[in-house]
Amino acid sequence: MTMMTAAQYEESLRKLNMVVYMFGERLQNVVDDPIIRPSMQAVAKTYELAHMPEHEDLMTVTSHLTGKRINRFTHIHQSVDDLVKKSKMGRLLGRETGCCFQRCVGMDALNALSIVTYNIDHQCGSQYNRRFLKYLEYVQEHDFTCDGAMTDPKGDRSLPPHKQADPDLYLHIVEEREDGIVVKGAKAHQTGAVNSHEVIVMPTMALGEADRDYAVSFALPSDTQGIYYIMGRQSCDTRKLEDGEIDRGNILFGGHEALVVFENVFVPWERVFMCRENEFAGQLVEVFAGYHRQSYACKVGVGDVLIGASQTIAEFNRADHASHVKDKIVEMNHLNETLYCGCIACASEGHREPSGTFSVNTLLANIHKHNVTRFPYEI
Ligand SMILES: Cc1cc2nc3c(=O)[nH]c(=O)nc-3n(C[C@H](O)[C@H](O)[C@H](O)COP(=O)(O)OP(=O)(O)OC[C@H]3O[C@@H](n4cnc5c(N)ncnc54)[C@H](O)[C@@H]3O)c2cc1C
Repeated sequence: MTMMTAAQYEESLRKLNMVVYMFGERLQNVVDDPIIRPSMQAVAKTYELAHMPEHEDLMTVTSHLTGKRINRFTHIHQSVDDLVKKSKMGRLLGRETGCCFQRCVGMDALNALSIVTYNIDHQCGSQYNRRFLKYLEYVQEHDFTCDGAMTDPKGDRSLPPHKQADPDLYLHIVEEREDGIVVKGAKAHQTGAVNSHEVIVMPTMALGEADRDYAVSFALPSDTQGIYYIMGRQSCDTRKLEDGEIDRGNILFGGHEALVVFENVFVPWERVFMCRENEFAGQLVEVFAGYHRQSYACKVGVGDVLIGASQTIAEFNRADHASHVKDKIVEMNHLNETLYCGCIACASEGHREPSGTFSVNTLLANIHKHNVTRFPYEI
């Protein structure tokens, strides 16, 4: 298959048998649900644009594993140029959808694991990287969307996982078998979870020796038995259920987050990428976070939409020649392009890790994230 079309992506989701709850009820048809569908359509854009010649250079790339043409969202960055193109792809898709298109978190999880599995093997003599690369080839071949699942519910923030009153507040290993492990817990705020074919789990923070059972990373099909999805609320979500064209927000595209519960879920060994190597949990979080901060390139695209809409409204009101209106549009552009500088800079200053994967400049990625928590609101 290698590269799905948007229609094939939608059909592939229909074949999944996920257990999804919203407003306290189990959903029978996730793909056509009017609240969820706009978020699915936003992910579908990542498939649609990959087939458009004008976007081919940003949206597709040659796999370093197979030499085949693949969607960039399943790629492991092989150069600084790849990192820069990732930032540009984020802006493009933010502009096309005006929202979160959800697929970057899985891409960031894949890239982080390509680095950290290699580092674990180097120190511990394990075989995680080989396993991971086999899994990566499978993801690339099927052009899957992956949920990157890091955030645990956490409970009492002053206590480490093993001291929590409820041991399941952080996802952990409850059993080790000859053929794999059994895990229990949950991941909170999972972007695009029910639009994903796979869920990639990682620890949420640095962990000590006493928390070894919580140092676990693995990937599973999103409809694996024992995984439950509880949809989070979005502001104005029920507006999408209303009739008419006016005042319903962005009804074509949207985002979603879900609480994902793992109730004694079995993971075969070939899908386990970290198993009790607690000294690497913090490294995995940091590498993932660096990539994910870069991924906020998407907000520049959303800024493009907002600036364009503001200019259009000013023109409709014949206010576009007023100097104070022009000043504000200029300031919006200034802030938006400053955001763009951050995601391009952390990519341009990227470096090669021992695994061969290229990673962003962490300081600049963190600065970009700081700007993203401020400028879009000022805009
Ligand atoms: C829109 C959205 C999408 C997201 N998508 C994903 C996703 O796809 N995958 C994923 O894994 N996660 C995702 N997240 C989760 C996100 O990464 C977390 O929300 C974030 O890391 C903060 O964690 P938290 O919500 O547990 O807050 P906390 O860490 O509990 O923070 C809440 C407040 O408590 C403070 N605090 C925390 N710990 C302590 C302490 N020990 N002592 C004192 N103060 C403390 C913090 O500084 C903060 O002010 C998403 C979140 C949002 C909002």
